[in-house]
This record gives sequence, structure tokens and C-alpha cells, in this order.
Amino acid sequence: MIEQEKIEEILIPENQIQKKIEELGNQISRDYQGKQLICIGVLRGAVIFLADLARYIKVPMIIDFMDISSYGASTESSGVVRIVKDLDENIEKKDVLIVEDIVDTGLTLDYLIRMLKSRNPASLRVCTLLNKKDRRQINVPIDYCGFDIPDKFVVGYGLDFNGLYRNIPYILVLKPMYYQENGQN
Ligand code: 5GP
Repeated sequence: MIEQEKIEEILIPENQIQKKIEELGNQISRDYQGKQLICIGVLRGAVIFLADLARYIKVPMIIDFMDISSYGASTESSGVVRIVKDLDENIEKKDVLIVEDIVDTGLTLDYLIRMLKSRNPASLRVCTLLNKKDRRQINVPIDYCGFDIPDKFVVGYGLDFNGLYRNIPYILVLKPMYYQENGQN
């Protein structure tokens, strides 16, 4: 899946991720008891996380996806966001949970929250697997968080560099030469 020489550090091993997702799923199931949820996965990074999380959520739920793209360099968010694929579901008066892979500057999530709120859901909450608090440029509410991580560029478990590494079951830091400008894959 990945050559050992490209790995700077394994930040979160697979068993810790799975344990945390079970906890998050249990908490979400308790909080939404008696309700029906719409979970919105943000493509493509959140696909793996949402697929695992969904299996720990014990209330009735619908899964939908939204694809948004942020303009700018591949490892930086610009805050200027374009909808590539909109939701299929109508979320008006529904209980909605945004499922994100990572919140970094917060610019993407802030845009998403404002856009979804304008569609008048009954409630709107956010669940993210990873949170880079130190990088925040705008305050965004996070209701469920897997792990706070340092300011390092991570891949694996849905997160990519140039489309690669999403299938790795743990979170790792690549050696800088493999993700910096003109770096090799
Ligand atoms: P934000 O708008 O919060 O700065 O960035 C959100 C998006 O930036 C994430 O959904 C993700 O696509 C990308 N991103 C931020 N940090 C990382 C990282 O460490 N690794 C990867 N692969 N993507 C990241």
C-alpha cells in the first residue's frame, strides 16, 4: 500500500481509529435516539470514515454526499468553495450531521454550514475524525471529534495526496519530500 521509506511517522494506528469510531457512533446513537438522521459525507475524504461510522450508528439514517472543491494549492484551503455535486436529499426540517475527514483552517466547513443552514434543517451538527485546532482561521462548531492532531500534513484513512493513500487503514505523516512542491508520489 505504501513504501516504508515514505512514512515519516504513523500518527494514529488502525485499532485506535476503530475504537474511537465505535465511541463516536455510540454517542451519536444516544444523542439522536428516537430521531432519523441524514449523514452528509463530504467527498472524497470522508467516505472511509462515514462508511465505518455508519455501522456504529443505531438510529435510522440516510446517507448522502456532497462534493465541494476548494480553489488553491493542493495542500492549502483557500476558503473559496465550489459545489461539484450537490445533495440528492431535501434536508428541510431534517436532523443533519455533516461528516468530515479533517477540519483544518475551518474555511470549507464554515462555507458548508452556512449553505446547509440556509436550507432550514431541523438541526445541524458536525462530526470530524481529525481536528487541526492550531490552524483554525475561523471559528466553526464541532460537535463530535475523533482526534485533535498537530499541524502536520496527514494521509491515510480517506485522506489523500494527489488522490493516493486513501485506502491506508491508519493515519500517517509522509516525509516532506513526498508531498512538497515537485515532490514524487
Ligand atoms: P479547511 O478548509 O478546514 O482548511 O480544509 C479542509 C480540507 O483540506 C479537508 O477536507 C482536506 O481535504 C484538506 N486538508 C486539510 N488538512 C489536510 C491534511 O493534513 N491532509 C490531507 N490529505 N488533506 C488535508
